[in-house]
Amino acid sequence: MHDEPIDPFNGDPADPSAGLDDAVGDAPLEPLTESERQDVLEDLADLEVYQALLGPSGIRGLVIECEDCREPHYFDWDLLRGNLRHLLNSGRPRVHEPAFDPDPDHYVSWEYARGYADGVHDTLAEGTDDGES
Ligand SMILES: [Zn+2]
Repeated sequence: MHDEPIDPFNGDPADPSAGLDDAVGDAPLEPLTESERQDVLEDLADLEVYQALLGPSGIRGLVIECEDCREPHYFDWDLLRGNLRHLLNSGRPRVHEPAFDPDPDHYVSWEYARGYADGVHDTLAEGTDDGES
């Protein structure tokens, strides 16, 4: 049984845990680089897709394993969007405002949402392959 925390931002330059040490203290915040902004914008776009796909089936948001607490945090869609926008505006992540008293059944991991979206995309692609001519 694997028990390792999954980092939803693994390998992602927008990793909110990256540079946390640098953010400590009174050093001025540096704005995101253009590619970092791009990554956050892509995450925002992905979120829209995930919410559109999963929201109707009762999924309220994503669960993210917190490296600091070593426990999962549950984020509503709106909260996730707010966090990403905050990151865009300030260059600093807000990772510690999880949903209050969440029901784990209503949250899925970022990987699950991505896989689900990919699956739906593939299904749609296959459907168009059949053609209607
Ligand atoms: Zn935490």
